[in-house]
Amino acid sequence: MLVLRSRIEMMRWSADQRRRGNRIGFVPTMGALHEGHLALLGKARGNSRAVAVSIFVNPLQFNDPRDFERYPVQPKKDRRMLESGGCDVLFMPDRAEVFEGQEDDRFPLGGLDSYWEGPMRPGHFQGVVNVVDRLFGIVRPDAAFFGEKDRQQLTIIQWVASQQRWPVEIIPCPTIREQDGLAMSSRNRLLDPVHRGIAPMLHMALQAVADSAFTRSVPECLNQGMAVLQRDSRIALEYLGIADARTLRPLEDWADEPQVVALIAARLGDIRLIDNLTLERP
Ligand code: AMP
Repeated sequence: MLVLRSRIEMMRWSADQRRRGNRIGFVPTMGALHEGHLALLGKARGNSRAVAVSIFVNPLQFNDPRDFERYPVQPKKDRRMLESGGCDVLFMPDRAEVFEGQEDDRFPLGGLDSYWEGPMRPGHFQGVVNVVDRLFGIVRPDAAFFGEKDRQQLTIIQWVASQQRWPVEIIPCPTIREQDGLAMSSRNRLLDPVHRGIAPMLHMALQAVADSAFTRSVPECLNQGMAVLQRDSRIALEYLGIADARTLRPLEDWADEPQVVALIAARLGDIRLIDNLTLERP
């Protein structure tokens, strides 16, 4: 596996792959890798002849400086995991290589940041889209892989990709979970044992919503989820809601939206976790 830090070298690699007629698959990450990231890599491997993964802890998307400072870093382990997952090139740029001093592009987000994570994390999605735009400009992938774990991020990137006519196919990947249902996340390792023990309750709450979805009313379903969370006062809920998966608009009744999703965010101690679940119509 090649490890590149320079923008120019990364662009050269990419141009070389294209010259050879190789499709390029790309997985952008912030490192501290786990099975969820490896599933994205596996999907990219099955889709594209040449696969690049980036590790870049994007300062622009952290609205909370403490969250940025303590974000886990494990470069050696990450490299080993990527190597055995079949990654061709690992791109690990520093901030200057990515942004070249230009960090303030504003992208229209179509109001998709008005709900859920948007108000909770001001500037977060602008930061995400900024870095994805920059990385796409360097790596020039044919396909890029994003996890449903970060559902709103995925929806926003799909929307911006079509608006900006990014020549990149955005491919969603299902959420990978621990045995106990907790969605894998780099932040999980920051949980102390007590909070790690109760963290699966987020997924249990989503499951409780899903259990009565479409058969009971939306508020009743949400109450089912709330009932799970109320069993433990150490879970500080930020939101639990149901949305149209395409627009992310909160739903108050089961309209005719073909795709519906339940979303949750909560703090356990000072660690913030998010999760979501697609609700299947019977
Ligand atoms: P991150 O390193 O957290 O920025 O995540 C990089 C990519 O991995 C994003 O597209 C995430 O949505 C995706 N991802 C993170 N956790 C999971 C998971 N548990 N299952 C599937 N994809 C994930």
